[in-house]
Amino acid sequence: MARFFLDKRQVVKNGGFMDPVYYSYWHRQHYGTDYVARFVDGYAPKDGTITRKYWGDAGGNWIELRLIDGYSFRICHLSKYHRSLGTFREGDRLFTTGNTGKLTAGPHMHTQCNDPSGKIIDCEKYFNQILTQRPMEYENNVIRLIDDGSYAYVKGGKKQLIKDPGALAVFTFLQRIDNPIKEFIKNVDRATWEKYPITENNFFPQ
Ligand SMILES: [Zn+2]
Repeated sequence: MARFFLDKRQVVKNGGFMDPVYYSYWHRQHYGTDYVARFVDGYAPKDGTITRKYWGDAGGNWIELRLIDGYSFRICHLSKYHRSLGTFREGDRLFTTGNTGKLTAGPHMHTQCNDPSGKIIDCEKYFNQILTQRPMEYENNVIRLIDDGSYAYVKGGKKQLIKDPGALAVFTFLQRIDNPIKEFIKNVDRATWEKYPITENNFFPQ
């Protein structure tokens, strides 16, 4: 019975895959998912292998792991590692989340997922497949649909397509101001982003 890395799966508001707010603000897309996690332990969802642990200026302490089903994850901003490289079993404690690296202003878990062919996919899609189905926690958020690139507003667990990009811009601006998580997840400004080129060790895929 697979589990999520954390005891609670909660997407940071505006921290989802191909996030339209980050994109409009920094002109860079977000190909990972940020989960709310303040210095909490992360456990293995399935059996797998830790393939790499490394430091990147932007993401701080990264872990790279591959699960037995061939899907792999890169997770960063960690405060601690609890396992050495090599195999682990489902349920093993792998890391503690944190706030390391420069591209964060508050503890959270930045998570990227690749399918067995290496293609970057939405982590939420993966977890929605292996865990009990439930609506993604994007309530009252704008999300970008990865199938056709259109935008939708999530209300009552349902997606309503947004047809007017102008309205979207106003909405995302208002939403940015009214973000309850801003106490501990602050936005990194664009100049800071651009100081960190995409390299193997600063791998936030764009
Ligand atoms: Zn992130």
